[in-house]
Amino acid sequence: MKKSILDFTKSELASVVYPEFRAKQIYTWLYQKHIDSFDQMSNLPKQTRTKLDQKYDLKTLRIVKKEKSIDGSIKYLFECHDKSTIESVLLPMKSELRDSKGNILKEIKYSICVSSQVGCKIGCSFCLTAKGGFNRNLSCAEIVAQVLLIKKDNQIAHNRKVNIVYMGMGEPLDNLDNVTKAIKIFNDQDGLAIGMRRQTISTSGLSHQIEKLGKMNLGVLLAISLHAVDNDLRERLMPINKAYNIESVINAVKNFPIDQRKRVMFEYLVINDLNDDIGSAKKLVRLLHGIRAKVNLIYFNPYPGSLYTRPSEKSMEKFKAYLNDHGIICTIRKSKGLDISAACGQLKEKNLYEYD
Ligand code: SAH
Ligand code: SF4
Repeated sequence: MKKSILDFTKSELASVVYPEFRAKQIYTWLYQKHIDSFDQMSNLPKQTRTKLDQKYDLKTLRIVKKEKSIDGSIKYLFECHDKSTIESVLLPMKSELRDSKGNILKEIKYSICVSSQVGCKIGCSFCLTAKGGFNRNLSCAEIVAQVLLIKKDNQIAHNRKVNIVYMGMGEPLDNLDNVTKAIKIFNDQDGLAIGMRRQTISTSGLSHQIEKLGKMNLGVLLAISLHAVDNDLRERLMPINKAYNIESVINAVKNFPIDQRKRVMFEYLVINDLNDDIGSAKKLVRLLHGIRAKVNLIYFNPYPGSLYTRPSEKSMEKFKAYLNDHGIICTIRKSKGLDISAACGQLKEKNLYEYD
């Protein structure tokens, strides 16, 4: 199989094309002009275009299904070359604002939620992705293609900034090399030019990988899927807690380089009658002491056969109020249309029994 052209950083590309400045031209075509074939790279000599076509692949992923939610989120199911499927979601974060004449005052802000693996090894008991087990890591090109195809499909101009969250299927820190390479490709000024601070890696808490990512000093943002405040419960929810307990995750976060204007996001999946009590909120406040943190509460999203149930709105609000009253910034993740689910990890499985 041909290597994907999306697997190259610009400097890697510069070492395989001649002369070097062609790399910049190719990047512009790939990332800013949404071309479908090498032949469309009209400022490249015909011979170069033919060579590129012989050596490299442009069609890394194929959109196989698309679902629009009532709130405007669009979930995508992509097929890879080996027929594996992965999902991504386009999330409009803030609506467009127009004046009385219809001129746009404020443009919509988008986030794109991408997958990093086919399946996941971590095996969290609340997560549907875990049920299918682990298949393989996504290549860098497969990560990059999710964003490219979604931008293209929605005609989002190349210079419109989007946020990227690595919160789809898989554990991004278990595929650190390909994820960080994709981050750098997204960041390239001749490509999508997506700032490091617009990219958030969400992790189940692989402490040693958090340390490794921190040492790379990329400037990306970090989100920790905490979900429980004592080790017993966290182990039940997330078996990875046996290897990396809460204290080791908190320590890794404390050593992680964070922009002074930014915070580490702690995701807390709220499950009915399990971790939604004020006692847990109290422990959470203590745990986050001394960390520039913010908390994002997520409603557990049930699925057929799930072990847990969704918490009440009342207990969510009480939990949030407790954190806010104790100086912790806390938001409740808006369920981006329960019809498509806020937890990207659910979409593929959901697809299997709802749409096929
Ligand atoms: N593996 C990484 C990133 C992908 S999971 C991680 O765990 O952080 C993305 C988010 O979806 C996580 O915060 C996870 O807790 C959440 N999630 C998984 N299953 C869910 C469910 N049933 N309801 C709500 N959120 C869920
Ligand atoms: Fe993997 Fe994240 Fe799902 Fe846990 S929640 S199984 S780490 S994708």
